[in-house]
Amino acid sequence: MQVNGERFLKDLHALRQFGASGVGKGVVRPAYSGADIAAREWLAGQMDAAGLEPRFDTVGNLFGLAPGRSLLMGSHSDSQPEGGWLDGALGVVMALEIARATQEAGGPAVSVANFQDEEGRFGVTTGSAIWSGQLPLDKADRLTDSAGVTFADARSAMAHLAGEPIDPARFTGFVECHIEQGPWLHEAGQAIGVVTDIVGIRDMTITLEGEQNHAGTTPMHRRRDAFQVLSAFNTALNDRLRNVVTPQSVWTIGHVDLHPGAHSIVPGRVTFSMQWRDGDTGRLKRMEDVIRQTATEVAAERGMALSFSGMLGLEPVAMDRGLRAALGAAAQDLVPGRWREMQSGALHDATNVAALMPAAMMFVPSIGGISHAFAEDTDEADLLTGLEVMARALPDLCKAH
Ligand SMILES: [Zn+2]
Repeated sequence: MQVNGERFLKDLHALRQFGASGVGKGVVRPAYSGADIAAREWLAGQMDAAGLEPRFDTVGNLFGLAPGRSLLMGSHSDSQPEGGWLDGALGVVMALEIARATQEAGGPAVSVANFQDEEGRFGVTTGSAIWSGQLPLDKADRLTDSAGVTFADARSAMAHLAGEPIDPARFTGFVECHIEQGPWLHEAGQAIGVVTDIVGIRDMTITLEGEQNHAGTTPMHRRRDAFQVLSAFNTALNDRLRNVVTPQSVWTIGHVDLHPGAHSIVPGRVTFSMQWRDGDTGRLKRMEDVIRQTATEVAAERGMALSFSGMLGLEPVAMDRGLRAALGAAAQDLVPGRWREMQSGALHDATNVAALMPAAMMFVPSIGGISHAFAEDTDEADLLTGLEVMARALPDLCKAH
């Protein structure tokens, strides 16, 4: 089987035009935006031209189906509000090229997946979480984005494309290529990472409510200032989490909505995101306990009302040994000494798909470890190496199950 590197890069650059940010190779293609839907329709056309049957499911996950039972490969084509050209897109376009090349060579059947809202405008890897049965559709429909739009409303923008659910039983396994989004491969001058496991994640929203008042006339000792309490919470949390975490554990307050957000008003309410990740389920729970307890104590000390949203999360997931071995053997053949096995600190659709079938992931380097930013990039030589390694692994990936 002969993959066509030129055709693969041309498709990647064509996909980049949907939602091109105008800054470097950046894209703005959040789930269900006009650019996202247009990109999915274009990809459906490419699948059709490659002899695959393009099918959208209920929520806009796009599949390019090979006939009969097949290996499934892919990722997602939605982006963060400010994203790069390769996050997700690489895995979808690589799957397309592999599916096309194997069909041309009369090789084993490969289908393509392009999951919706991997970047979590609404939840956490929403499209694949629904497909894998881990997030019920009625629950998903009630999720809202940070502007208050519901998932149900957002997905109605794709209603004209939506079809029946795709039966996972038609696939023998799932393989996702993705950029690393971290610094390790690039810093080590390595070309390929074979993922051993994907960390688990917990995500919720916390609200603290005090008293909104005049910023000039309210004495400091009388204030119940939501920002000051958030600040105290964050300091206490960093201190206390140190006792339960490892160097791989991470936690982030990434979105803060301070009400009403004016220079001359003591803010009365703050709603903020609280997210944490770790490779161990027990440690995720211990971190949760510390977060809840710290918030409760800080709120009580300062006379604030406290509420927690429901919690979204995904468990840590190990990648399939047979598929991993196939990727490792191909990397050893093509780039000996320039590949490694590694954990994924970023979440991926493979986490969800692993609940349905054997799943594995392969990383290529991210220049400077930058992602979720317009500056995200990978050397084209590394993109092509990734394609070659995947093509070399394909017969074993198809045989593994
Ligand atoms: Zn991604």
